[in-house]
Amino acid sequence: TDLAHIRNFSIVAHIDHGKSTLADRLIHSTGTVTDREMKEQLLDSMDIERERGITIKAQTVRLEYKAKDGETYILNLIDTPGHVDFAYEVSRSMRAVEGSLLVVDASQGVEAQTLANVYQAIDADHEIVPVLNKIDLPAAEPDRVKEQIEDVIGIDAADAVMISAKTGVGIPDVLEAIVTRLPAPSGNRDAPLKAMLVDSWYDAYLGVVVLVRIKDGVLKKGDRIRMMANGTVHHVDRIGVFRPGMLTVDELGPGEIGFLTASIKQVRDTSVGDTITHEKKGCEAPLPGFKPSQPVVFCGLFPVDTAEFEDLRDAIEKLALNDASFSHEMETSAALGFGFRCGFLGLLHLEVIRDRLEREYDIDLITTAPSVIYQIHLTDGTTMEMHNPADMPEAVRVDHVEEPRIKATILVPDDYLGDVLKLCQDRRGIQLDLTYAGSRALVVYDLPLNEVVFDFYDRLKSVTKGYASFDYQITGYRTDNLVKMQILVNDEPVDALSTMVHRDRAETRGRVMCEKLKELIPQHMFKVPIQAAIGGRIIARETISALRKDVTAKCYGGDVSRKRKLLDKQKAGKKKMRQFGKVDIPQEAFISALKMD
Ligand code: GDP
Ligand code: MG
Repeated sequence: TDLAHIRNFSIVAHIDHGKSTLADRLIHSTGTVTDREMKEQLLDSMDIERERGITIKAQTVRLEYKAKDGETYILNLIDTPGHVDFAYEVSRSMRAVEGSLLVVDASQGVEAQTLANVYQAIDADHEIVPVLNKIDLPAAEPDRVKEQIEDVIGIDAADAVMISAKTGVGIPDVLEAIVTRLPAPSGNRDAPLKAMLVDSWYDAYLGVVVLVRIKDGVLKKGDRIRMMANGTVHHVDRIGVFRPGMLTVDELGPGEIGFLTASIKQVRDTSVGDTITHEKKGCEAPLPGFKPSQPVVFCGLFPVDTAEFEDLRDAIEKLALNDASFSHEMETSAALGFGFRCGFLGLLHLEVIRDRLEREYDIDLITTAPSVIYQIHLTDGTTMEMHNPADMPEAVRVDHVEEPRIKATILVPDDYLGDVLKLCQDRRGIQLDLTYAGSRALVVYDLPLNEVVFDFYDRLKSVTKGYASFDYQITGYRTDNLVKMQILVNDEPVDALSTMVHRDRAETRGRVMCEKLKELIPQHMFKVPIQAAIGGRIIARETISALRKDVTAKCYGGDVSRKRKLLDKQKAGKKKMRQFGKVDIPQEAFISALKMD
C-alpha cells in the first residue's frame, strides 16, 4: 500500500467513555468482521480486563475503508492501555501512530485520564480529532463539553464529531474524519529496515508475537532481524496483520503496522519501544527515547499454605514469561517462610497479578505491605536501592533516605474540593496548581508515591462519592525524614508488616496500625500485646485480651450441631491464617492494617 492511503491512529479516553465500544463499531462498520463474528468488546480479551472495564495490553486492528473520495484506505487502530500503571506502554504505542481520536463522554466531560492520555498524544505530535460520545443520553451536554475541551486541554473542538458508539450515530463521520483530518505516515521503502517494537505477548500456538510499526524499509518472511536493545538475532517465520484475527501477509512496508513471529522463546527477550532492524545492512541508530519499563511498587507474595510454595513458583514463572514488566525473586521471611518479592508497574498491576495467581492457579496468598523503591544513602558514602523495608540498614549507618514523588492530577466537582485538598494534605502533599473548569476543580499535587500506593485511590473515590478522577506520573526522588516502623506481635517483630513512614507521622500511623491489628487478630488463650516500634523504641501499643475459657463452654453438652458448626468455622478460619510465634494472624490483616481510614 502506498503511504498516502494509510492512516494510523489510537483512541484516547477516560475509562468508560466508550473507547472499546467505538473500536467495535469501527471494526463492524468497515466490514472487518461479520455480525456473527462480532463479539461484544472485541478488543478487550482478558477476563480481568473485561471485569474491570480496562484494557491492559495494547492490541491493534487493521481496517479497510472505502472513503467518500472513492479511494480505499488502510486504517490501523492501536488500542492503548487505559490505566496510569501502563503509562510507558501508552507513550510507546502513541509513537507508533500519527493521530488520535479523543473520545469524551458528552454527559461526563473531561476527566483526569482524558488529560493524561491526551497529553501523551500531544507529546507524540499527533493530529487530534475530538469525538463527543454518548450523545444519545439525555444528560449529554455537547456544547458545554466542547467548551471544556477548549478551556482545559486547549485544542479546537469546533469540529468535534458527535456520535453515539452505542446506537451507531455518527460513525461514518468518524471514518471520514480519520481519512481527511489525520496525516498519512511518512517513511522510506529503500532505506534500511527500522521498525518499532510496540508490544509483545505470548500466544499458546505461535509463541511470542511481536507487534511492530515499520518506519523505514520492508520486513519480509524469512528475514533475519536484530533487536537493537540487546543485539539478539532472530529468523522471521511469519508476518501478518490483525483483521482482527491474524491474517498472514507477504511483507510489511513503511507506515504499516502488523505482527511477526520468529521463534522467540519468552516475552522477556523483547522490550517494548525497542528498534528492530535487519541483521545485515541494518539501520545505524535506533529510534529515540527507548527505555525499558521498570517496576515501581514491590511486595512479598507468600503462600498461605507453605506446601504450595512450588506451585506458586511455577505460577509466577509462567506469568513472568508473558509480562516483562513484572519482576520476581525468591524471598525468605522469618515469619512467612519462602515466597517471592515481586515488582509491579503500579497497584493495579499488582492486583491483576495477585488475582490471576489466586484465580487461575488457585493459590491462597499473603501479600505483604506494598513498598516503593527508596534510595538509602549510607554514612560510608555509598547508596543502596531498597525494595523491602525489611532490608533497611541500622539507623547509625544511614545518612539520609530519598523517596519517589509523583505529580498527581485530580479533577473533582467543587463540592468535594475541600475533602480532596485535606486528603492530599494528610498524605504529605504539596499543592502545585488549582484551577477551575466549569463547576469542577483541576488540582495538581506533588505527593510521595508511598502515600499513594496503599489506598489513596480508594479514599479519593470514597470522599468524593466516586466523582473525582485521578492520574499520576512519577517525577523523581526527594529526601525526607523517613524511618522504618516495625510491628511486634506478642513481642516478636513481624517483618511482613514493616513499613517506611515519615517520622512526624510515625506515632499516628503506629497507633492506627495497632488498633486495626487488634480488630483483625482473633483472641487467643493468652494476652497478645501489639506494638509499633522505631529502632528499639515503642511508639504505640494495644493489647488483645485473653479468650475467656467459658466462651466455648456454653456450647458444650448443649446443641451438638451448633458446636460442630462453631468448630468447622474455626477450622475454615484457620486455613487463611499464618502462625507467628504462638499467634495466628489472618491473611487480610497484612493489607487492611496499612489502610489509613
Ligand atoms: P471504555 O472503558 O472507554 O472502553 O468504555 P466502553 O466502550 O467499555 O463503554 C463503557 C460503557 O458505556 C459501556 O457500558 C457501554 O455500553 C457504554 N457506552 C459506550 N458508548 C455509548 C454511547 O454512545 N451511548 C450510551 N448510552 N452508552 C455508551
Ligand atoms: Mg475498554
